[in-house]
Amino acid sequence: MHVLTGSSCPHPFISAACPLCRGSDAPGRSEPLATAQAVADALTAADGAAEIVLRDGELLTRPEALELLQQARKSSKSVELWTSGLMLARPGVIEAVLRAGVTTLALPLYGDAAESHDWVTGQSGHFQRVISGLKRVRALGGKTAVIAPLLRPTFRTLPLLVQKSQALDVAAFRFVALPGPDRAGQPLLPSLEMVAPYLRQALQMTAAAKRRASVLDVPPCLLGDRAAEMAKETVTAVIAAGAQAHARVHGPPCEACTWRAECRGLLEPTAERFGWAGLVARSDAPPTHSALK
Ligand code: SF4
Repeated sequence: MHVLTGSSCPHPFISAACPLCRGSDAPGRSEPLATAQAVADALTAADGAAEIVLRDGELLTRPEALELLQQARKSSKSVELWTSGLMLARPGVIEAVLRAGVTTLALPLYGDAAESHDWVTGQSGHFQRVISGLKRVRALGGKTAVIAPLLRPTFRTLPLLVQKSQALDVAAFRFVALPGPDRAGQPLLPSLEMVAPYLRQALQMTAAAKRRASVLDVPPCLLGDRAAEMAKETVTAVIAAGAQAHARVHGPPCEACTWRAECRGLLEPTAERFGWAGLVARSDAPPTHSALK
C-alpha cells in the first residue's frame, strides 16, 4: 500500500478542527501546503503500486483535485482518498470523485456518536455529514472506509464504532495514532497502552465481520496476535517528500525486542508524554518483509 501525504488543509473552516489535519487549530500544527506539483511527483513515483492512499489535508479543496485523482488512478487500480467528508455534501462532488477513479473514500469518525465527534471537530452537525457522506458514496457504488483516530475521549468506544459502522457497509477501518502535538486545554492524545485492549477488540470485530483493517503508528507489541497481520496491511508505505514531509517522528525502539529492526516505536509526542514504561518487548520473529516503515 502506498501512502502519499497530500497537504495541510488550506481551509480550516471546511475541515473544522479535525485533529487528523495538520491545518487544524492545534498549536504548532499549521504547516505549509504541499504544491500540486509535489503531489503529482509523488504520484509518479508511486506508479504501478497495488494501492495508493491519498491522505492528510483536504485534497478536494484544491482546484487541481480531479486531475490529481485521475493521475492516481493511472498509477494504481486502487485509490483511497482520505477526506473530512464536508466537501462531499456539495452537489456532484462524490460523482466526480468516483468518475476520476477513486475506488474508496475514507472518512473520519471521532467516536461512535455525534456528541463526541462534534466536540472533537468543534463543528455541530459534522458527524451527521460524515454519516451521510458514507451512505451516499455506497449508494453511488463506491467503497468506503472509516478512519478511526485513537483519541483520549473516545478510545473506549472503538468496538462500538466498528459495530455501528457495519450497518453502513464500510469496507475497511483505518485506526490511526495521532502524531501530535496535542491540543492545549483539550488534550486528545491517549496513552496507547490504555487504548490497546479496546483496539485489539475492535480488530477482532473487523476480522469477524470480514472487513479490512489497518493500524497506523501503534507499535506491534500493543497489538497482540494481530500484529503480524497489521504489519502486512501497512507494507511499503511511501511518504511524499517536500512540504508534505510533516514527518511522524518516532522514539527509539526498545533494545530487548526482537521486532526492534522493524518497529519504529511510539510516536515521539506520545513517548514524551507517557514514557516507554509498560511496552512489552516481543520475543517472536517479526514478518520477513520490512513491514512497519
Ligand atoms: S521495539 Fe519497543 S515499541 Fe516496538 S514492538 Fe518492540 S517493545 Fe514495542
